[in-house]
Amino acid sequence: NYRARSAFKLLELDQKYNFIKPGSVFIDCGAAPGGWSQVVSRKTKLNGNLIIAVDLLTIEPIPGVNVIQGDFTHISTQQKVKELLKEREADVILSDMAPNFSGQRFIDHVKSMELCEFSLNFAERVLKSGGTFLCKFLMGESDHEFRNNLKTKFDIVRHEKPQAVRKKSTEGYFMCLGYKKNK
Ligand code: SAM
Repeated sequence: NYRARSAFKLLELDQKYNFIKPGSVFIDCGAAPGGWSQVVSRKTKLNGNLIIAVDLLTIEPIPGVNVIQGDFTHISTQQKVKELLKEREADVILSDMAPNFSGQRFIDHVKSMELCEFSLNFAERVLKSGGTFLCKFLMGESDHEFRNNLKTKFDIVRHEKPQAVRKKSTEGYFMCLGYKKNK
């Protein structure tokens, strides 16, 4: 069992795209309480991989997972991630970050897209060529713009809504494969 139901969304996407592999470097942004990191930890069985989980909130220890508590939009937090990476590049960057819901759909959408931009900017600095980027967003006016931007940077960009996401939710994921580094 997992700490969060959201684990099933990641399992579903991995079943379809098969990107959680041993020996890889994973960064899990917005990782609390730790469901996604549990999935990655269990699937890769600690075979030479590096898993870094970041969140504003505390995360109870997970075998093989390095936890950083901090705001991912702050340079100082991103710097801590880079220190843990040493000189390694990331194979997979996950972001399940979501803003605190205001209840106003447009505001939540805009805040969510901001978090997407932060994780993409970070990905552009540490993701290896051919790497994978998965990012949650709340659907709305400007998700298309972000998607078009992703399309210039990855070979494949898909809008996914896993079964485990509630039907009425405006939540979606951009599943991006094949990072085109230096483009
Ligand atoms: N994937 C997680 C799991 O399986 O347990 C669930 C993640 S939850 C939906 C979203 C998380 O994003 C929250 O824990 C929240 O604290 C975090 N978050 C939101 N904004 C953040 C930020 N600026 N920096 C770090 N974490 C953030």
